[in-house]
Amino acid sequence: DGGKRPDYLAGLNPEQTEAVETLEGPVLVLAGAGTGKTRVLTTRIAHILNTGRAFPSQILAVTFTNKAAREMKERIALLVGGAVEGMPWLGTFHSIGVKLLRRHAELVGLSSDFTILDTDDVVRLIKQLIQAEGLDDKRWPAKQFAGMIDTWKNKGLGPADIPEGDARAFANGRGRDLYFAYQARLSTLNACDFGDLLMHPIAIFRKNPDLLKEYHGRFRYILVDEYQDTNTAQYMWLRLLAQRSKGEPQNVCCVGDDDQSIYGWRGAEVDNILRFEKDFPGAKVIKLERNYRSTEHILGAAAHLIAHNEGRLGKTLFTDRADPDDVKVQVHASWDSEEEARAIGEEIEQLQRGKHLLNDMAILVRASFQMREFEDRFVTLGLNYRVIGGPRFYERLEIRDAMAYFRLVAQPADDLAFERIINTPKRGLGDTTVRALHDYARARDIPMLAAAADIIETDELKPKARKALFDVIQFFRRWQELLENTPHTELAEQILEESGYTDMWKNDKSAEAPGRLENLKELIRSMESFESMRGFLEHVSLVMDAETNENLDAVSIMTLHSAKGLEFDTVFLPGWEEGLFPHQRSLDESGRAGLEEERRLAYVGITRAKRRCHIWFVSNRRIHGLWQSTLPSRFLDELPETHVEVAEMEQSYGGYGRGGYGQSRFDKAEPFANSYSTPGWKRAQANKTDATRDNWGTRSGHAVERIGYGESGPKGRTIDGE
Ligand code: ATP
Ligand code: MG
Repeated sequence: DGGKRPDYLAGLNPEQTEAVETLEGPVLVLAGAGTGKTRVLTTRIAHILNTGRAFPSQILAVTFTNKAAREMKERIALLVGGAVEGMPWLGTFHSIGVKLLRRHAELVGLSSDFTILDTDDVVRLIKQLIQAEGLDDKRWPAKQFAGMIDTWKNKGLGPADIPEGDARAFANGRGRDLYFAYQARLSTLNACDFGDLLMHPIAIFRKNPDLLKEYHGRFRYILVDEYQDTNTAQYMWLRLLAQRSKGEPQNVCCVGDDDQSIYGWRGAEVDNILRFEKDFPGAKVIKLERNYRSTEHILGAAAHLIAHNEGRLGKTLFTDRADPDDVKVQVHASWDSEEEARAIGEEIEQLQRGKHLLNDMAILVRASFQMREFEDRFVTLGLNYRVIGGPRFYERLEIRDAMAYFRLVAQPADDLAFERIINTPKRGLGDTTVRALHDYARARDIPMLAAAADIIETDELKPKARKALFDVIQFFRRWQELLENTPHTELAEQILEESGYTDMWKNDKSAEAPGRLENLKELIRSMESFESMRGFLEHVSLVMDAETNENLDAVSIMTLHSAKGLEFDTVFLPGWEEGLFPHQRSLDESGRAGLEEERRLAYVGITRAKRRCHIWFVSNRRIHGLWQSTLPSRFLDELPETHVEVAEMEQSYGGYGRGGYGQSRFDKAEPFANSYSTPGWKRAQANKTDATRDNWGTRSGHAVERIGYGESGPKGRTIDGE
């Protein structure tokens, strides 16, 4: 290169520089959070371009999300000082897969204008196949088979590859035939599913070595971010493109962190990290150990926590960002989730008064139902927020469906609501019926629900549809009668039950279904603070109206899973309670491995913070519709005393290594004895109305005990977890 080193290289440490400048040969960067892995990738691309080693179109770069791809493109442009004319092969595995497939569709029997089916389409199609095979689709639900196909495709298994045992598991051994039939059907429809976006390119490359060779020539440099979360199919795809015959350049660079592998439940294989060194012999493995993101306290807390995992490759992390003003990671306790949202809201407003931007703050939740409370609170406070990586709570599919039922009961003229739910769940009231109803209503200028009530008296509909419609209308009549005198939360629950809507999700075998059921429970819960159904509906329309301008200064709310790769000055981590985090489901389904993945998720959460990290737990949470007194998360016990403090309760902190979180911290305080010396959160508890406490059947003294482990809690765990 000679001459002056370009500016973009100047700030890098020696290991980063090595990772950027080792452009020839396979490179694996294995390093902890915030060590500059993504920055290395970006700088590497800039360096390749800047030194004229390749054109933008000769670089294949894979990111985990589309958003990350956009950001990387912008950064590269900044580094090379000017717009990069396109980076056509910078994107997620799926977006790159689509591109490849459009080019070579004919090689797998598709034409280039193929459609990509969404999950609903896929399920509908599979259901048809199951019925066509003469199988009972109640016994063998289409959703379940869709899930199986997805799992197979994540593993790179086509119909011909699936193991005997797997095939037997579904439809009395006909799973394999069904899978074949499914692929054939897709082909006829000129369609593919999400998994095919990887599977088809793999097949294309395998069957057409010359074409593969062409791509080897094209892609001079291959780069992959978040490598620890690739699944087997992605790895196969990558290996086909990156593995070259002897003597050919093999310039592939993957960066990742085994401690941040959080998509095992979706088929990601941490082992791909180990496989890399085997499949790319002579790979240079570079470790980055200096963290540039977080303070010593944040890093110390995260490192100590993750050390409790067994299956680790192991690495060191340090930071120079030690400032005497740095605050420790703060652990806060609240009575319940409403209070948690209120307390976090206050903390945010206080930061805001201190001239901190909302853009620099994020709330990272374990489960999406937790978002609702924050959204409601922020609307009340007039704090701007945005939900990242998913719709806002009230915009979610299941919430909109449920709301449509409530609206139609309270506002029978709401035709949009009517159309939304009349055939959800499926009742045999398809498009034809809806169109007939629509015309009927139009002609008479009446709402559709009223039209439906009329039309069943005529013979305009087929008997089956007429019967189905009759049944629904009976329900709506009943619900409307109940509207005035039944408590609205009760009615809401009744509506979701009787309409079959809850059952629809209970019978749904997809990965999202449990989350949707949780959200529905949360919806009912959110109604409690309103006087009536109508009051609630009004509130929601206000929330839905809240601005979500991209350019607005706003707090980000997202799940821990979608926070990967991101960073914020201040991070709030609510809901650190047993059952929620670690999540019961992952413990039940995957045992120890599940627990370790949860812990990695906690590690990802803490390491998103640059300067301030606030962790919250509540003593009471409503889970699956029932109030439960909760135990603080075991992860709290696993945080090191030196880097963590209990907010507002420093005086009793000394004892807290003794027997787990709660006991030692809380047993010292004389509950509610004198409110001025009682920490804020306890005062808030003491001030709860008697009615609230009666619900619990507890007196105040008892309530405090619940906050800690009390007598029934886990014993003998220390703060060090050792
Ligand atoms: P994660 O594992 O969370 O994805 P990462 O390893 O990809 O983290 P980056 O996001 O690339 O880390 O970097 C973390 C932060 O540190 C960023 O703000 C980045 O700009 C900064 N950073 C990285 N390297 C340096 C450096 N040499 N000098 C100054 N800042 C740096
Ligand atoms: Mg990164």
